[in-house]
Amino acid sequence: MTKKQKKVLIRIIIAAVLMVALRIAYHFLGGGDAPIIKEPFWFILYMIPYGIIGYDILKKAFKGILNRQVFDENFLMAVATIGAIAVALVQKNGDYTEAIAVMLFYQVGELFQSIAVGKSRRNISELMDIRPDYANIEVDGKLEQADPDEVEIGTTIVVQPGEKVPIDGLIIEGTSSLNTVALTGESVPRDVFAGDEIISGSINMTGVLKVRTTKAFGESTVSKILELVENASSRKSKSEEFIAKFARIYTPAVCYSALALAILPPLFQVIFLHASATVWPTWIYRALTFLVISCPCALVISIPLSFFAGIGGAGKEGILIKGSNYLETLSKVQTVVFDKTGTLTKGVFEVSGVHHNVVENEKLLEYAALAECASSHPISKSLQAAYGKEIDRNRVTDIEEVSGEGILATVDGVRVIIGNDKLMHREQIRHINCHSIGTILHVALDGQYAGHVVISDVEKENSEKAIAELKKSGVKKTVMLTGDAKAVAESVASKLGVDEVRSELLPSDKVSEVERLLDENKGGKLAFVGDGINDAPVLTRADIGIAMGAMGSDAAIEAADVVLMDDDPLKISKAIKISRKCLRIVYENITFALVIKFACLILGALGFANMWLAIFADVGVMVIAILNAIRALRVKNL
Ligand code: ADP
Ligand code: MG
Repeated sequence: MTKKQKKVLIRIIIAAVLMVALRIAYHFLGGGDAPIIKEPFWFILYMIPYGIIGYDILKKAFKGILNRQVFDENFLMAVATIGAIAVALVQKNGDYTEAIAVMLFYQVGELFQSIAVGKSRRNISELMDIRPDYANIEVDGKLEQADPDEVEIGTTIVVQPGEKVPIDGLIIEGTSSLNTVALTGESVPRDVFAGDEIISGSINMTGVLKVRTTKAFGESTVSKILELVENASSRKSKSEEFIAKFARIYTPAVCYSALALAILPPLFQVIFLHASATVWPTWIYRALTFLVISCPCALVISIPLSFFAGIGGAGKEGILIKGSNYLETLSKVQTVVFDKTGTLTKGVFEVSGVHHNVVENEKLLEYAALAECASSHPISKSLQAAYGKEIDRNRVTDIEEVSGEGILATVDGVRVIIGNDKLMHREQIRHINCHSIGTILHVALDGQYAGHVVISDVEKENSEKAIAELKKSGVKKTVMLTGDAKAVAESVASKLGVDEVRSELLPSDKVSEVERLLDENKGGKLAFVGDGINDAPVLTRADIGIAMGAMGSDAAIEAADVVLMDDDPLKISKAIKISRKCLRIVYENITFALVIKFACLILGALGFANMWLAIFADVGVMVIAILNAIRALRVKNL
C-alpha cells in the first residue's frame, strides 16, 4: 500500500469507530422523551466522523462546481450525504449515521480501486523495469558509468553479469546467456556469442560481454518499447469512449431525475390528494437514495482497468499492443495476411549454390555482399554472412535499392546489379533460369550476366502451428503475400497450410492485394503480419498491423499497432485470444453493472431501497467489476 492509501485506510477506521461509538451513545443518551444530550450537540458530534471521512470528496465536489464540471461521482456523493443530513435534521431523529456510512463505503470502494489499479500498474512497470540506468564504458582499463543517452553509435560498452543491456549492439567479445523474459515472455535464457546481435532490455546472466553499439539509446529497443507502453493508455477503445460519453449524459440525467423524484410526486400528493407536508422528507430521501445508487463508478473505473490489464498481460507475454483500440480490433480479426520472408520464414538464408558464373565463386559473392552492404533486407544479411569477411563500405558507391526487386550499386568501379528476374527484365539483362528450389539472386556485372546465387530460407519452427492455432481460434482465412518467386512461395504455403498465396508482388501490389481482401471481408477485421521490410505501407493499410519486433525494421515497429517481441508467429493467435478475453470481461462488466444499477434505481424510486442498500449495491458492484477486470491480466494459459 502506498502512503496515500494507508492514510485513507486510517481515516476509514477512525470514522467507522467514531460512527459506531456515537450510534451507541445516542441510544443511551439521546433517545426517549428526556434525552440527556440534546440537539444540536448530536449534530456537531456526528459532523466529526463525517468530516474526517468526507472532507476531500466535499472539496472535490465544490471544485467541480467552480470549474463548471458539476456532475461527477464526488458531486453525487456530496449531494446525497448533505441531503441525508438535512432530512435527518428536519425529521429531528438525530440519525446521521447514514450520511457517514455512505461516505465510508464510498471511500472503501475508492481505496479498493486504487489498490487494484496499482496492481496492474505494477505489472506494466515490471515491463518498465527494463529501463537501464547506465552504460559501462572502458576508459584506460577502468569502467566508467555513462548516461546511456550520451553514448554514441559505435562505442564499445561492457555489460557485466547481472546488468541490463543498455543499448542495442553487436557482441565483439565474450559469451554469455541472456535473460529476455521481460522483453519476450520467453523464460529460457538465450546463449549468445561474439558476432551476435544483442538487444537492450535483456539481462546479461553469466559472462562479461563487450558490445559495439549499433544504435543510439533513443532508437534502441528498450526506448521504443517504453515509448509504446507509455503511450498505450492514451489510445482509447470504442468501449472506453462509449463509457465516457455515457457517463457524461447519464450522470446529469440521473441528477435531474432525482430532482424530479424529490419534487413531482409529493407536489402531486399535496395538491391532488391533500396530503400533509410530511410527505416531502420521504420523497427527498428516496431521491437521495436514487442518487447514491446511480453513481456510475463501477463502469467508469472497471472498463479502462480491463483494457489496462489486458495490455499489461499481453506485454508480459512479449506482445506489445499500442492501445486499447487495437485490443478491440484484434478481437474481431477474421482474416490474417502474412508476409513470407522474416515473418513465416526465418529470413536467414543460406547460400546453397553459386551457378553459371563468369568470375570465381568467391569473387561473385564478394560483389554481391558489397553491393548489399547498406540493405536491411534479410537477404543482404545472409549474403554478408556467407561472404564472411569485413566489408569496406568505401568500395561501394551509388547504391540504389529497388523494393521487392533488388539492388544496383557500383563496387570498385564495376556496376553491379543483383536481384530477381523482374529486375533483370527491367535492366534488359539476358539471364539464365535456374531450376533449383529457392530464391534466385541474379548478378550482372557491367551489364553482363555473371551468374546467380541460390539461397534458401527455412520456415520458423512455430509457423505451421501458428496457422493451425489461428484456424482453431476461429480465424476464417489465412493468406500469404510475398515478393519471392512462385515456386518458393507455393512450397512454403502448402507446407504451412495457408489458404491463399500470392507471389512475385511488389510492395505496392501487396497494398492492393490487402485492399482487395479488405473489400471481400467487410464483416470481420483484417490483420497483416510483417517484418516491415518492403511492407510498412501494408502494415498501416490493414485494420491492424502486427510487426515482428526483434528482427523487424524500425519502420515496422513504428507502423505497426501490435509488436511481437520474439518474432514468434504463434503469438498472433495468443494476442487474439488475449484480446477476446479482455473484451469479454468488458462486456460482462457493462451488462452486470447496468442490470444491477437499473434494478436498484427502480427499487429506490419506489421506496424499497434505503441508503444502506444503495451504497452496498454501488460499492459491491464496483468491487466485483474490478476483480473481474483484473482477470484480464491472467493470460499465461490462454
Ligand atoms: P517477402 O514479401 O517475402 O518478404 P520481399 O518483398 O522483401 O519478400 O522481397 C521480394 C524479392 O525481391 C526477394 O525474394 C528478392 O528476390 C528480391 N529482393 C528484395 N530485396 C532484395 C535485396 N536487397 N537484394 C536482392 N534481392 C532482393
Ligand atoms: Mg518481408
